[in-house]
Amino acid sequence: MRSSNPLKAMVVAGFSLLSAMAFAARSFPLDQVRLLEGPFKHAQDLNLEHLLQYDVDRLLAPFLKEAGLTPKGRLYPNWAGLDGHIGGHYLSAMAMYAARGDSAAKERLAYMLDELEACQTAHGNGYIGGVPDGPRIWSEIARGDIRANAFGLNGGWVPWYNLHKIFAGLYDAWDYTGSEQARRMLVDLCDWCGRLVSDLSDEQMQSMLVAEHGGMNEVLANVYQMTGEKKYLDLAKRFSHRQLLDPMAGGRDILDNMHANTQVPKAVGFQRIAECGGGQQYAKAAAFFWHTVVENRTVAFGGNSRREHFPSAHSAMEMIEERQGPETCNTYNMLKLTEGLHRMQPQARYADYYERALYNHILSSQHSEHGGYVYFTPLRPRHYRVYSKPNAAMWCCVGSGMENHGKYGAFIYSHQDDELYVNLFIASELKWRENGVHIRQDTSFPEQAKTMLTVLTDSPKRFTLKVRHPQWVQAGQLRLTLNGRSWLAQSKPSSYVSIERLWQNGDRLEIDLPMHTTTEQL
Ligand SMILES: [Zn+2]
Repeated sequence: MRSSNPLKAMVVAGFSLLSAMAFAARSFPLDQVRLLEGPFKHAQDLNLEHLLQYDVDRLLAPFLKEAGLTPKGRLYPNWAGLDGHIGGHYLSAMAMYAARGDSAAKERLAYMLDELEACQTAHGNGYIGGVPDGPRIWSEIARGDIRANAFGLNGGWVPWYNLHKIFAGLYDAWDYTGSEQARRMLVDLCDWCGRLVSDLSDEQMQSMLVAEHGGMNEVLANVYQMTGEKKYLDLAKRFSHRQLLDPMAGGRDILDNMHANTQVPKAVGFQRIAECGGGQQYAKAAAFFWHTVVENRTVAFGGNSRREHFPSAHSAMEMIEERQGPETCNTYNMLKLTEGLHRMQPQARYADYYERALYNHILSSQHSEHGGYVYFTPLRPRHYRVYSKPNAAMWCCVGSGMENHGKYGAFIYSHQDDELYVNLFIASELKWRENGVHIRQDTSFPEQAKTMLTVLTDSPKRFTLKVRHPQWVQAGQLRLTLNGRSWLAQSKPSSYVSIERLWQNGDRLEIDLPMHTTTEQL
C-alpha cells in the first residue's frame, strides 16, 4: 500500500493479495503523524496557505470545457496544452491536508469531486480529463491510429502524462480520505481506459508508450490493490514500457541522456506491480533502476538530471555548468520509488537516500516565505533559482510541488508487525493505533546532532524500536541513552539498531548522531 489504508485495501482485495503483502512494512496514514515545530512543519503549513490562494474554478476549467460544460473560471494560460494536469496534482494535495482534518481543504476536495463527477456524467463513458481535443485523440488511439514521439501523441502534448494526474488525484482522494465518491469515479475512469485500449495489440500499446505517460502503470496497480480485481493489474502491465522494463530487469543501464522524469514514474509503477505480486521481473527492474539512479546519477543533494535528462558518467561536469540543474519532479518520484522499495524490504540505505533528497532538495524547492515552487535546482556557482507564483505560473514541478510539502509525515516512521522503524529525524508525534502507543520525537536536527524519542502508553507494551544508524554517522559513533543510562548496541552505518523491550510510559531514548564533513566525487 502506498500510504494510508492498507487494512481497508487488503479486506477488499482478499486473501491472495494479503499473502503477497504479508511481509511488507507499512507507512502510517498522514492523520497518525503530526509534525511538531521545525522546518518541515513550517513548510507544510506555508504550503497550505499557498495552495488556498489558487482559484479552484480556474483549475477545474479545462475539465468542464472538455465535458461540454460552461467553465466557472478562466483557463490558466501557462503551459497551454497540458491543461488539467495541475488540477490533478491539486486534488492530491487537498486530499493530504483533508486527511489531517483541515476544513478548508476538505471543502475544496468535496467541491472538486462534485465538479469532476459532473464532468464524468456529461461525458457519459467514464472519462474525465482536461486534455485539449481529447475526444479526437482518444478515438484515434482506440482504433489503432497511433502517432507517438517522446512528448507527443496524435498531435497532443503527452495526453497520458496529463491524464495520469487526475487518475492519481482521485486515487489519493480515496487513499488519504477514504472518499467512496472518488473511488467510484476512479473505477469508472479505469474502465474507460481499459475499454479504450482493449483492441490494441501489445505492439500498438508499446508504440503508444513511447510518449511520456507519467505513472499510468503505478495508478492502475494501485487500483488493483484497491479493488482486488486482477484486470487492473493486467492493465498496469500493459501500460509498462518494455523499452525500460526489459533492460532494467536484466541489469543493463541504458539511462544515459534519457528524459529523467519520463523514466522515474515508470519505475515507480514497476515497484507497485511487484509489490502487488506482479512478478520478479518488475521487482528486479525497480530495484536496479533505483540503484543506478541513486549510485551513478545522483548529486550530493539528491537530485539527478540536467536539462531534464540523465547525465552520462562522462558528462557529470555538465551538472556544474548547466543552468537547468536537477528537476524537482524527478526527486518527488524517486522518493515515491524509495518508499515503495523500503516497504518491500526495509533497508536503511533507502532511508539514507530519502533523508538526503528530502532535506536538501525537496525542502529547499519551496520558498520559505511565500511558498512558491522551484523547477530546477542548478549546481552552477552563483546561479539563481526561479520560484512560482499562485495563479500565474503553471510550469513543470508546480504540480508535484503542491504535493511535496503536504506529506512530510509519510516516511518518518513505518512499521512491520511489532517493529517500529524510525526512518527520519523530524520533530513529530506518532499515534501508533494498532499498538496503542504514541511516540513523540523532539529534535531540532540538523541544527543539533541528536534526537529524542519518548514513549507514551497507557500500559507497558512490548515492541522493537528500530532506529536508523545513518550512513553518515561513523561506526561506533552512534550513542543511545535510555532513561539516562547508556544503552549498548552494536550497529554500523546504514543499518537499523534494534531495541526490543517492554516499554513503559515515559521511557526516553536519546540518540546522538555525530556529524563529520565528507566529499563526494561527481
Ligand atoms: Zn517537473
